[in-house]
Amino acid sequence: MSEIKTINSGNKFAHTSVGSLSSIEGKHFIKEATGATSCEISFGTLPSGAAVPFFHSHKANEENYIILSGSGKFQVDDNIFDIAEGSVIRVSADCDRNLKCTSTEPMTYICIQAKENSLGDYTMTDAEITERRNLL
Ligand code: ZN
Repeated sequence: MSEIKTINSGNKFAHTSVGSLSSIEGKHFIKEATGATSCEISFGTLPSGAAVPFFHSHKANEENYIILSGSGKFQVDDNIFDIAEGSVIRVSADCDRNLKCTSTEPMTYICIQAKENSLGDYTMTDAEITERRNLL
């Protein structure tokens, strides 16, 4: 695990990067670098044939895994299923989970951890179109 640094930030934002997704290794947690208040995001990689070395569960947080490359197997309690690039897996709190890379290429994934049942309004029920001048 390497330290992820804040690249730039202001009162209302923080920017960080894990760099090229094809060259990251291990697990990288983002919350400290961005100061996120609603979720923890981590980037993980598993070499061919590797699984996370332990099962774990969470007390209050669900996790959403997004598979960015590679393929393999996911286990939730005693349920096992295939996963591949593009898979999105939501796992409730209070159950055991693990994933394994079975492809020849490494598996790269994002895990977003947030308090279960905390999402109220979202997308257009939470968003408003504003009149900000576009400086891009
Ligand atoms: Zn977890």
